[in-house]
This record gives sequence, C-alpha cells and structure tokens, in this order.
Amino acid sequence: MANTSDNLTPAMKQFHHFKDKYPDAVLFFRMGDFYETFYEDAQICSRVLGLALTTRNKNSANPIPLAGLPYHAVDAYLKKMIKAGYKVAVCEQVEDPKKAKGVVKRDVVRVITPGTLTDDILLDEKEDNFLCAPYLGPKGAALCWVDISTGHFYAQQLDEDAIVDEILRLSPSECLVPEKREQLFGDDYAKLAKQLSEISSIVITHRPGWYFDPYSAEKSLLKHFGTNTLEGFGVDGDSDVIPPAGALLEYLSETQKTSLAHIRSIKLINKRSFLHIDQTSLRSLEILRTMRSEDKKGSLFDSIDQTLTGMGARMLRGWVCMPLRQVDRITERHTAVQELCDFSQKLDDIRSQLKNTADLERIVSRISTFRASPKDFVLLADTLRKIPAMKLLLSESVSGLLKNLAQGCDTMEELADLLEAAIEPECPSHFRDGGVIRTGFNAELDELRGISKDGRSWLAAYQKKQIELTGIQNLKLGFNKVFGYYLEISRSMADQVPGDYVRKQTLKNAERYITQELKEYEDKVLSAHERSLELELSIFDQLRSRAAGYASRLQVLAQCVGCIDCIASLAHLALRRGYIRPEMCGEKVLEIKEGKHPVVAQSLGNEFVSNDLELGGESADVMIITGPNMSGKSTYIRQSALLVLMAQMGSFIPAESARIGVVDRIFTRVGASDELARGQSTFMVEMTETANIINNATDRSLVVLDEVGRGTSTYDGLSLAWAITEHIANNIGCRTLFATHYHELTELAQLLDNVKNCNVAVREWMDEVVFLHKIVPGGTDKSYGIHVARLAGLPASITARSREILDDLESTFVKEASGEKLARNKTAQQPQQQLFVEQNRSVLEKLLNLDVNNLTPIEAITLLNDIKKEI
Ligand code: ADP
Repeated sequence: MANTSDNLTPAMKQFHHFKDKYPDAVLFFRMGDFYETFYEDAQICSRVLGLALTTRNKNSANPIPLAGLPYHAVDAYLKKMIKAGYKVAVCEQVEDPKKAKGVVKRDVVRVITPGTLTDDILLDEKEDNFLCAPYLGPKGAALCWVDISTGHFYAQQLDEDAIVDEILRLSPSECLVPEKREQLFGDDYAKLAKQLSEISSIVITHRPGWYFDPYSAEKSLLKHFGTNTLEGFGVDGDSDVIPPAGALLEYLSETQKTSLAHIRSIKLINKRSFLHIDQTSLRSLEILRTMRSEDKKGSLFDSIDQTLTGMGARMLRGWVCMPLRQVDRITERHTAVQELCDFSQKLDDIRSQLKNTADLERIVSRISTFRASPKDFVLLADTLRKIPAMKLLLSESVSGLLKNLAQGCDTMEELADLLEAAIEPECPSHFRDGGVIRTGFNAELDELRGISKDGRSWLAAYQKKQIELTGIQNLKLGFNKVFGYYLEISRSMADQVPGDYVRKQTLKNAERYITQELKEYEDKVLSAHERSLELELSIFDQLRSRAAGYASRLQVLAQCVGCIDCIASLAHLALRRGYIRPEMCGEKVLEIKEGKHPVVAQSLGNEFVSNDLELGGESADVMIITGPNMSGKSTYIRQSALLVLMAQMGSFIPAESARIGVVDRIFTRVGASDELARGQSTFMVEMTETANIINNATDRSLVVLDEVGRGTSTYDGLSLAWAITEHIANNIGCRTLFATHYHELTELAQLLDNVKNCNVAVREWMDEVVFLHKIVPGGTDKSYGIHVARLAGLPASITARSREILDDLESTFVKEASGEKLARNKTAQQPQQQLFVEQNRSVLEKLLNLDVNNLTPIEAITLLNDIKKEI
C-alpha cells in the first residue's frame, strides 16, 4: 500500500491501521452514509461491484484511489464480493459522530468470508455452507467442518489419502490451513491447498500455525463448550480432530467478534454408521449435480426433493450424501414414510403446516450472534404457532420415529406470546426508523411516541396559526438537518413578517425564519423521537437476549421440523410416483423387480423400460452386461446403485418389489470427462479409480464399472478388464455390475461360479436394429457400433465401407482365434491380400487395435483418410 507517511488524515491513519490488521480482506470503511474502499481494495470493488473509481486528494502527490458504496445497499454488495471469492472486513463508526471528540472511533465489527456467512441473503436456503479445516498429523489425519449459519459442527478421523476426496465431497466454501511459511507444517498442507485450488473453487485461507496447536486448541474447545473434557462428544484428549476443531473455533471468533453460543456440540462422524459414497461416485451417479453441465437440475437430489423448508432441504441433502447402513435405522425411516403414505390426509395436513415455515435453524444462529432482525422475530413467532398443530397431527402415530418427532415438537408458547406481544407484525426489515415494537408493549415507549406524534399535529396547528396571524397564505413549514424546523416565506412577503421571527437563511425566492416557540417545541419533539428510538432498541436487545435463552430448545425443534419435513417429503414422493417400500436385510443380496432409474424414468415417462436385478444370495455376485452402445447399459448399472442409495437413505424406490441387503460403500468407475481437464489421461484416471476400488471394496460393497480398459489398446484393455473381474469375483466377492463391450469377458461366467452374463436385448429386422432396453440373461457377441454411428449421422458411404472392413476383420479374428496364422491363411486363398498384409502391416495393426465402439465420427473419418494415404 502506497501512503503511510505522517501527513495522512486521522481517518486514513485509522484505515491503514485496520487494513494492516486484516490484510487478506477488502476493507469496507464506514464514512457517514457510505462505505469507502481505498487503494487496491477500490480497484477490486470497482471491478467486482461496478463502482465508479475516483481519487481522494486529487491534487496531492499521491492521490488515493477510492470507490464508495451507500451503506443501506451493503447487503447486495457483500453478496457480490463473497460470490467473487473475496473476504470483506466491515469497519464501522462505533461512536456517535456528533458526540465524537476528534476523529470518530471506528472498529472492524465483522469479517465476512465465504465460509462464515449468517445472513439469508448471502446463503443458499437448500445447502449447508461449510468452513472446513484438515489436519495432517504425525499419527493420523482428521477433518472438521462447521456451518455457522446453523451451528452444526462435525469432526471425522480419516486416512490422509482420503482427505482431498472428503473435502470435495463436502464441498465447503472455505478451507482453513496453517500458513505456508511455518516449517513445522512441512509441505503437506501447501500441496493440499494447491490441489484444492486447482480442482475446485474452495477459498483457501491461511492462518498462523498456533491455530492448529493441539494444546491451545483443546483449551479453546473446553472453554467454548464449558466442559472439563471432550469425552462427552466422543473425542479423546489426544484425538486428531482437536487441532482442526480448535482452529475453526479460533477463526470464527476472529471473524465474527460475537457470541458463538449456538455451536453447542461437536459431532463425531462414525463412518461405520453410513453408506460411504466417495466424491467420484457422487459425481458420476449425478447425485447433487449433473456431470455434463454441473447443474443441480437433473440430479438425483433435485428429482426427489419435495421438502418445504430450508431445514428439511438441507437435512435431506445430508441423507442423500450419507445414507444409513444399519438395517434397523433404515427400517425406522421406512416405517415412518409408510405410515404417512397410508394416511395421506394426515400427510397433506402436515405438509400444509410446513409450508411457509421459517428457517428456524438460521434464525437461531442470528439470534445467538445478535444479528436477528425484527422480521426474524415475526417469522419465528409465526412458525412457533404452527407447532401445536404439527404435534397433534403426529401424536397418534404408531411409528417410533414419528412418535419421537411428535415429542420433539416443543411449542414454546411463552416465547411466541412474548414475541407476538412485543413486535409489530408489519414491522420494517431494518431498525433505522423504529416502528418495530408494538404499541401497548411498553408504557414509556407509547408515551414518547405520543409526544412525537402530537408534536407533528402541533406543528400543523402552529403553521395554520401563523398563516392567520401574518395573513401570508403561502407560509410553509419545513425541516432540515442544519437548523431544524423553520418557517419559509416568499421574498415578496418578507416585509410582512412579525418582529419575533428570526431570519436564518436567504434563498433565491424565499426567506427562512425560526421562532422561539417553534424551537422549544422542536426540542421536545425531536428528543422524544430520539428517545423513543433508543428505547425501542434497548427493548429489542432485551428481546434478543430473552430469545437467545431459548436457543438450544429452538435448535432441537429445528432439527425435529427438518426431520418431519424429510419424512413427509419422502412419503409425498412415494405416493406421487408410486414408489414401493424396499425390504431391507443384512445379507449379501440385491433383488429388484421391475426397477427404474429414478431420474431418467421421470423424463421418459412410459417409454422407460423397467428391469430386474439379481445379485448375491442365490445368484452370482458379479454380473457382466454386454450390449451395444446406447442400448441402456449405463442407465441400468447407475439405476441399480441409485436404488440401493435411495433405499438406504430411507426412501421408497421406483420398482415393483425389492429386497436389499445393506451396502457399506458404493464404488463407481464411470466416465472420466472432468478428469481429462486436469490433464490426466483417460486411462490413468480409469486405472486410479479401479485401483481405489480393488484396494478398498469389501464383500459388502456395491461396485459399478462401466467400460474399464477403454483408454488403452484393445488387448491391453481386455486383459486388464479380465484380470480385474477375476480378482473381484475371487478375492472380494462383492456385488458388482460390469458393463462392457468386451464380449470376450462373457467367457468368465463359464469359468467362475459367481459371475453371470446379461445383455441388453436387441431386435434386428431387415437392416434395422431396435434397442429394447431390456436386460436379459446371457452374453452377446455383437456391438452394433456401425449402426450407432449411422444413427449419429455418419454418412452412408463411410458406414458401408466400415462394414466391409469389419467383416474382413471379424473373419481375421475368427481365424486367428482358431489358431491359424493370419498370413499363411491368407496366402493360400488370396495372394493379393497377402500383399496387403505384408505391405500394410502398420495399417492392419492400427485396425486391429482399433476400439470401434469408442470412435467418434471425426476420428473415424481421419483414420480412414490416414489409411487411404498409407495403402
Ligand atoms: P449405453 O450405456 O448402453 O451406451 P445408456 O445407458 O447411455 O446406453 O442409454 C442410452 C439411452 O437409452 C439413454 O439416453 C436413454 O434415453 C435410453 N435408455 C436407457 N435405458 C433405458 C430404459 N430402460 N428404457 C428406455 N430408454 C432407456
């Protein structure tokens, strides 16, 4: 920053002081009705917010770049800054400028960063907004994450290799790591931060190493929770989750500068309780976003989410990403969904109560951090009034979960009564002009308001009296900040003004006067107005404190309402779409009759062909699915994974019946478009993902493989796919669906007991091929690649020529496979072709190694061109 010399104005000295304290944030510096930004900050704001860039001290040697924004529009500007990935330190005037001696006192009251938002306007209602901190310790690794807008605080111990995947899976807005320069922390964090910033838009924040120091971290956690030990949260004294948890807390208090009382506990995530879906599978199964456009629309969550509240939407999102693993807990949810399906009137009534329910969780956070607005209180009171009806609707339930939820409906009538009595229902959203506290709530306030209101009618009467007295008809009464109330009289009438009028201002066509009487009244009115505002504010602060006393009960209620919303959403979905309740068990089975892909079936309607699935149990563990491209293999294998996931999150599923043995992890190896952008080859990505599966799958996992071995030559790919399948079948024995175009793999079913073949039925008629999308037992030996190429619009001349080449190649393959030597075989019958073989061996090799199924039309044309040149 340029100017730090002594000739700075006191305000600019203050600016530099705070800027030095918050170097990585843009400083919004309050000056009267504006927030000003200076130097680089001004340039950033002008670019990001489209503000006009001007200069302060234009004529000095070092003019200061400056950009300002009006204080009342700050929310909208903050939103843009945060979206653009910046942090903002808000520096306010902390004393009344009128009372200030010298420069007005200022302080940074809050630092707003992407991972520490609490205002609704800055947040997405349906998503958590996490701030996370990893820890790479000498003994092990851990990850902690917190959403300050809801008070949820989580911790997990995990392998160091799994950290990046877990962070991506959580998709936090901001990640805290120790400062690079600290030797103690080596290169590992720098590597991790680099990796994250390369592949995601997560904002990385560096903080001093002591934030992560186990000793001070534990001390600050104990102080925050007011406990002697963390064992109550399942956290041992030497646990690796302590350093990152402490770092998060430290950073929150640094940025928020207010109470964090709503963060009441730390929840240790036990991976064994949940079905683990890694980041790759989350993406490839399009659970939260589609692969191609990264759009939420078209994802599983978007398709099945019928929640009506923010709490419910966020909880359901959590259920989708972390389905359950224990049969009894899953069944508990299914039973609750079933009961609401059976009593659809009750379901509708519950849902109509949930409509327009406020986001309790986020309101509680704002109450606890002293940022609740008057409107928050109105919404809170309205929501509390809905709870008794909800409780009643749930109270006669049979399902244990619904019964618990009924009990959780804490109506807190005394709080609702208080808020209703205190807050004006039509109150403004800001406190600026008062009008928040209801008439009748506080006698002193009513009296002050009376004076200020009477004052106004007194003024009207005074004006009237003065007109009568002076006979000046156009005598006006006005107000300005400089000298308060005045009487305005046009120049031409000035000589008729009474002697007790004191002239204060001369305008072009008018004169302005004050009188003794007017000033006396003004003092009374203005001070009454000011005092009433002050009193309102103090009453409001008391209400905030009273409400903060209910924070923990409100948080429990918010969880309860969220859960009711989730169950009701699942029941509503099941009824609307005719989903069935899956039977859950602990065995290694997977039997689905007439299953459908929850998202594709929705868009295709009746055209969607349902399919059965049988894996594990009496049937084989590994299923090899062959069939032409575009026949529906990928849809089928993804559908199988999605149905298991839905069942384990507590949802009913699109099928006729299902028996599902719980799965511990879902692994997928499907597509790799995104990885290519990171500069890794398709093949490398494929093999890394496959290695992950082979190394981590247990016999209770579900593995979904699509076309392993594509990225290399045919023989390489085939041999790898063969060996991988053999290994899974022989050594892991997990339920596996493998879609492949290597027909040769179907032979495995003859060699291994727990491997079976299926293919997608195709009807050939004349020269046409119709894909039936039906999965039937048995292998297939045709790819129909050329047919698909024709469908894709490749010219007939090329598809016809490729058919000739294919026929030729197929006959070669057959002969080779039957042990005859290619050249010898060809010599006897077709001398000309022998010539072809000898002279164009490279062409032949190219063709043999060609993966016809994965050839794009352009590649095909280029290849044919190359071949032509070589012959
Ligand atoms: P493959 O993996 O065999 O190349 P996909 O699973 O990508 O094929 O499916 C190709 C297209 O076929 C999909 O876009 C979808 O529109 C359609 N499809 C897939 N499965 C079905 C089905 N069960 N019923 C109807 N249409 C389907």
